[in-house]
Amino acid sequence: MAELSDLDIKYLPGIGPKRAELLARELNIRSYRDLLYYFPYKYIDRSKTYRISEITGTMPYIQLNGRITSFTTQGEGARRRLIATFSDGTGVIDLVWFKGIKYVMERYKTGINYTLFGKPTLFNGRYNIAHPELDLADDIIDRNIGLQAYYNTTERMKSAFVNSKTLHKMIHTLWNSIHGPLEETLSPEVIEKAHLMGINDALCYIHFPRNIEDMRRAQMRLKFEELFYLQLHILRYARLRNHNIGGHRFSRIGEYFNRFYHECLPFTLTDDQKNVLREIRADVGSGRQMNRLLQGDVGSGKTIIALMTALMAIDNGYQACIMAPTEILAAQHYESISELLMPLGLRVELLTGSRRKREREPILAGLASGDVRILIGTHALLEEGVIFNNLGMVIIDEQHRFGVAQRAKLWGKNTIPPHVLVMTATPIPRTLAMTVYGDLDVSLIKQLPPGRKPIQTLLQYDNRREQLNASLRRQLQKGRQVYIVYPLIEESEKSDMKSLLEGYETVQRTFPEYTVSMVHGKMKPVEKEEQMQRFARNEAQIMVATTVIEVGVNVPNATVMVIENAERFGLAQLHQLRGRVGRGGEQSYCILMSRYDLTQETRKRLEIMTETNDGFVIAEADMRMRGPGDMEGTQQSGIAFELHIANLAQDGQILQLARDIAMDILADDVMLEHHRNAILRKELHRNYSKKINWGQIS
Ligand code: ADP
Ligand code: MG
Repeated sequence: MAELSDLDIKYLPGIGPKRAELLARELNIRSYRDLLYYFPYKYIDRSKTYRISEITGTMPYIQLNGRITSFTTQGEGARRRLIATFSDGTGVIDLVWFKGIKYVMERYKTGINYTLFGKPTLFNGRYNIAHPELDLADDIIDRNIGLQAYYNTTERMKSAFVNSKTLHKMIHTLWNSIHGPLEETLSPEVIEKAHLMGINDALCYIHFPRNIEDMRRAQMRLKFEELFYLQLHILRYARLRNHNIGGHRFSRIGEYFNRFYHECLPFTLTDDQKNVLREIRADVGSGRQMNRLLQGDVGSGKTIIALMTALMAIDNGYQACIMAPTEILAAQHYESISELLMPLGLRVELLTGSRRKREREPILAGLASGDVRILIGTHALLEEGVIFNNLGMVIIDEQHRFGVAQRAKLWGKNTIPPHVLVMTATPIPRTLAMTVYGDLDVSLIKQLPPGRKPIQTLLQYDNRREQLNASLRRQLQKGRQVYIVYPLIEESEKSDMKSLLEGYETVQRTFPEYTVSMVHGKMKPVEKEEQMQRFARNEAQIMVATTVIEVGVNVPNATVMVIENAERFGLAQLHQLRGRVGRGGEQSYCILMSRYDLTQETRKRLEIMTETNDGFVIAEADMRMRGPGDMEGTQQSGIAFELHIANLAQDGQILQLARDIAMDILADDVMLEHHRNAILRKELHRNYSKKINWGQIS
């Protein structure tokens, strides 16, 4: 038979051109295949039918069989409602409609047997069901139906009377019109390895499960398949790239690295730091280009890794550059790195946008001659005229501020591309990393350097402000410094600006004996810099700021971070902000101020912050609550991806299995040329031939 993807949905009985157009516009469903692969988002157990006499106050959605005995309308205008009495011989219940009254009156008749589905509630001593679903008793698709599938629909569809049930019927018609089994879309080897259901059963049971077991196995099969092809696609590109793109081979660990390690390193590396250096060393010695992502929480010690990685390049005769997202951060790197490298006598330079032409010229000359060994800077490193003699290593700090296009620009500068190490303190859940950065190798630093006292985080409501001020004063009297952060998500938001300025004034009035700095995004860079520096030098003891301080100054003497309206921040952002304290030896605190009347979800979100300092736990929780699409890291990665059935927040194990099996297959047959992989090759092509080529983007 013809391929399902070639059959236009408008030819399916009961659809026609108008509905076909609606499905195409609203859900992007155009072919038989599209409809068959439009999966339910939930199921409700309809295997049991209740009697009206059995209804109690605490029931969820239930099913009843009976007849409508009468209709009446009550109320006027917007408050008009339609009430029907519904009886099954054991009792009577009211059905209520607030909308679509005309439609309901035309459609449903008294004295006919209906199967009803809805949630009973008690009102004025009587049970009623608002907006129930009613089907002719003999119009139920499948009498033996166990679980009823529910499909997402849009407002437009609903007003054209295409609801979840209509879709379900369409799919039922479609399924019955298919003669003979569909072609399998995974190879027997994969099906067996992952213990999967065949495609025919899976597609049947995903829409028409007899029981929970059917549904779960169908979901497993289809989720696996989706994740499997995604991983196969990503991993295959990574492998092909590794094959095709050579990299500079750093064959020796030389003088500078060793001297630094033995003579200059001010502390002992943590085990995690050592492991990461080993991984990097293996990469740069392999003859292939390194593409590695280093994830490590704020304060985990990534700078020293950047520095020592740069030394590997220098030992092999290459230059290195380190890019930071802001001038302040670049300057800070420059200061700490040149200080650490002082004994080695290597030339390190700083290049940022604010450097004058006169200052730039000698730097650029030194860069071209190879005299400058490490260049630290911002975007300015990407400008025309910045020409390296021999760039072998690019280190990008705080990756999420750098767009894909910018990375590509760096790349374009050389024929043999430099090794790339991307460092981020935004913890990304493992499943997301495997997908968004699936083609990068990932290193982790999980432990913090020894001797840090974990930050204590408290949730406080606005009515406890006096107590808050008292504890801030105690810290200030001990000589510590304090951050107070206001939400200013949109820098243009007027009311946010107002509360920031009011906050600033209130703080000044409350603590007249201390100096208060302020920074926000509307300030000129020089002004911002000056305010920050004042705080860094402890000339100001309190810093009132917006999130612009999220990535920025390192002030170990600051021990308190107060976050106003904490409920307005995302978890990832709260975690980043909190990382500004706890950088010295003193006990530090983070105080989340919020309104008292929070939704349960928001309260739960904030409580996670008080329970853990582990950025990965927070990132996982954030993803579970908000869904992977909203996670930081996905948008910035510049990769749009859409999963139809799998969910990265829930399906980590399936993802891991899919990835492992995909790796095994590619290990033997990266081109998928073996006869036994023919199906995989065909399906991979079908799934990804039209999509963006991620593998080459990063
Ligand atoms: P981040 O990962 O946030 O960039 P940094 O590299 O700025 O962290 O390190 C935070 C602080 O921890 C710095 O003051 C650094 O000198 C210190 N540090 C890093 N590694 C160690 C270590 N192994 N032992 C002790 N202190 C360390
Ligand atoms: Mg850092």
